[in-house]
Amino acid sequence: MAEGRIEDGRGVYCNRTLNLRSIKVIGYDMDYTLVDYHVEEWERCAYERVRQRFGQRGWPIEGLTFDPEMVIRGLVVDTDRGNLVKANRFGFIKKATHGTRDLTFEEMREAYSREIVDLSESRWVFLNTLFSLSEACLYMQLVDLLDQGRLPAQGRPMNYHDLYEEVRRGIDATHMEGELKAEIMNDPARFVKRDPEVVLTLLDQRNAGKKLMLITNSEWSYTSAMMNFAIDPFVAEMLPGKTWRDLFDLVVVGARKPDFFTTRAPFFEVVSDDGLLRPVVRALEPNVAYFGGSAQAIEKFLGVSGDDILYVGDHMWGDVHVTKSVLRWRTALVLRELEAEVAALTAFHSTENELLARMQEKEHLEAQLSRARLSLQRLVGNYGPKVEGTREEWQGRIHRLRSRLVALDADVAPLARAASELANRRWGLLTRAGNDKSHLARQVERYADLYTSRVSNFLHVTPFEYLRSPRGSLPHDPSTPAGPPLQPNLRTT
Ligand code: IMP
Ligand code: MG
Repeated sequence: MAEGRIEDGRGVYCNRTLNLRSIKVIGYDMDYTLVDYHVEEWERCAYERVRQRFGQRGWPIEGLTFDPEMVIRGLVVDTDRGNLVKANRFGFIKKATHGTRDLTFEEMREAYSREIVDLSESRWVFLNTLFSLSEACLYMQLVDLLDQGRLPAQGRPMNYHDLYEEVRRGIDATHMEGELKAEIMNDPARFVKRDPEVVLTLLDQRNAGKKLMLITNSEWSYTSAMMNFAIDPFVAEMLPGKTWRDLFDLVVVGARKPDFFTTRAPFFEVVSDDGLLRPVVRALEPNVAYFGGSAQAIEKFLGVSGDDILYVGDHMWGDVHVTKSVLRWRTALVLRELEAEVAALTAFHSTENELLARMQEKEHLEAQLSRARLSLQRLVGNYGPKVEGTREEWQGRIHRLRSRLVALDADVAPLARAASELANRRWGLLTRAGNDKSHLARQVERYADLYTSRVSNFLHVTPFEYLRSPRGSLPHDPSTPAGPPLQPNLRTT
């Protein structure tokens, strides 16, 4: 991996060993993958349109505004309870809000001590992509209004699940209708973040003999407008007279992922710039833009399958999970937030070390306390190996250890709080939940062979690199740090 790229969150991180040299075809998603957006602008725009829809229906949405801090990718909506939760890798819920309000510790225990997040149940909705932020933000705000009895009944009183369905339909319609996309196409500079290194990355891959595909759910006019804006200026610099179309062997718009990977829909040919479609009656051809279709037909057309293909996308379910589970394509997840995540971790490094040292001290004192309690128990019960000292001496020692632990907890608390507020004050880091991996991190390691913050990070690993996963650690590994050596000054008697 190229030097200097891991530290700033711009590495290509590897969960499953992958030899890029043996990859024959690389498929790219477009939105939030090849084309990056100013999330706040894009999501505020989508949010505003859905909000207005509800306003037209008489819902009291005046005063609601999109809050980009309220939600992060990888959280899960609990549509039974109107909650937003962050779960760890086992599905245990570590943090939750009801509507826009944090749940107290007691409320958390009441709601979730016997429940874990199981994404196969329709109750739980995982926030798969940055497009999910506006949806979840609006839903949480509307839960507040529902609790206040301010939302009109829809035939019967609405519950939290009905409300979620309303918001989902609103978001869905907003993405499908032309107005939102028209607003973005009218002023792409406001929404699109151009990355000058993407084109060189793709050219390196093409010239290394790989076939490149673009497979997007966006329809033709939007795809072509975004690619024109984000990619063409850099193509023009490197390949005068060429456009983004010349970079790809196959372009598929309106792909309907994830169904694209599981079903066999027909292909249509895009025959004009305004997106006119014609059914495909012959075999697929290179350099034609298609609409619809299926991954199976693409495998046949290109004469490749499974681990010959790497698919790169930002949608945890639609781009990565299904692709891996059904077709066994190799997968790379684009997780743009990684750069901010690594920056926050780097800035916190010395405090993290301090926290670690205090926690090791705490573990050590707790172990001493447990041993002292056991000695007292044996002394009082008069059994087992002989215990030196009197009952009062042991009680005194236990008391001193407890006092030290209380003082230590007071030191640890602000450090632990700061650690839990990294990157986002309410939800913390994307990839962590408490001391453990987050539910998102677990999905990344299960379904994404690689993950990276942006496509151009592949520039630095080259099309020839053998990416190896790190050896996974286990609690019993002799190399795993087992805590500090016993320090003489910790002795309390
Ligand atoms: P891709 O990431 O390039 O496959 O394209 C994502 C496309 O899906 C964009 O055109 C989005 O506007 C669209 N999209 C995102 N979320 C939704 C939704 O909830 N309903 C319908 N379309 C969506
Ligand atoms: Mg995408």
